[in-house]
Amino acid sequence: MNQTVMKIDDLRLVFPISRSLVDVVKGRPGREVNALNGVSLELKQGETLGVVGESGCGKSTLARCIVRLNQPTSGQIHFDGQDVFEGKMLKDRSYNRRVQMMFQDPYSSLNPRMTTGQILTEALRVHEMRPHDQVDERVSELLDLVRLPQDAKDKLPHEFSGGQRQRIAIARALAVEPEILIADELVSALDVSVQAQVVNLLLELQERLSLTVLFVAHDLRLVRHVSNRVAVIYLGRIVEIGDSETLFSAPAHPYSQALLSAAPSLDPDDKGQAIRLEGELPSPLNIPPGCPFHVRCQYAADRCRTDQPALRPLTTGGEVACHFAESLEQNDHA
Ligand code: SF4
Repeated sequence: MNQTVMKIDDLRLVFPISRSLVDVVKGRPGREVNALNGVSLELKQGETLGVVGESGCGKSTLARCIVRLNQPTSGQIHFDGQDVFEGKMLKDRSYNRRVQMMFQDPYSSLNPRMTTGQILTEALRVHEMRPHDQVDERVSELLDLVRLPQDAKDKLPHEFSGGQRQRIAIARALAVEPEILIADELVSALDVSVQAQVVNLLLELQERLSLTVLFVAHDLRLVRHVSNRVAVIYLGRIVEIGDSETLFSAPAHPYSQALLSAAPSLDPDDKGQAIRLEGELPSPLNIPPGCPFHVRCQYAADRCRTDQPALRPLTTGGEVACHFAESLEQNDHA
């Protein structure tokens, strides 16, 4: 088993919502969005951990906490044995270099007035990655690494296609030689053919540079393609985590089963019955008691309405948060 490079323990994030005038008049208390409700996981050196779930389930919030764009309400993220939100680590700028995030829309994260060369030069200079006289050479290497032509150096972001802009974003992230890359819906905005190119480039670079990747996405086919392990998130909690092949071929949690059965199959002959997810995702303002999935679960029993299932080991090696996972009908999604 590879070494653990990051350990997340019981991460919680509650956003208070300001009271409306009606709330104030009626004397209603302020409300809170429970975005993360006790996420624990480990990232292993060199792996890709996919994080999946419906929109609004907390996967991007988790990614933002890891790069310290959001401060958790409680819980810890340990990197190099230290809590990244504790005093000394909080001031340590090297963490921002060692753990890099790439966003869905590179256009908004790339300065439109800076050329690619300037963008990469700035990243190298801020973290003093190379002596002054070696910066140009390194910019050229980075362009080669992400397979952009050398004349890209002199062009502005708007002169590139979406896929090329994501390559610039990857080059900028790699410029600072990170150990962990957080890819938040990295290719969601791109055409399918371009998605494959960018994802395959990422996989190639990951292997070449021994990177650890957290791949947040709602496209399950992509996640299956890139991930060694997968975590399924529902209402700010991990409901299932395990190695990718096992989880995709025999998901144990009813939510994972429904999510996977609703995803288009890679096999055009697969006429599998989609399991319908009943109802809407409940609001994180008002999370159901007991198992938070019980209001949508076809297997819900009385116990599910009162007892919250903890994440527990399965014989397959993964973990699941469901009281009855072993006795539920398995849906084969292979
Ligand atoms: Fe469904 Fe109950 Fe399992 Fe929750 S604990 S997923 S409601 S069977």
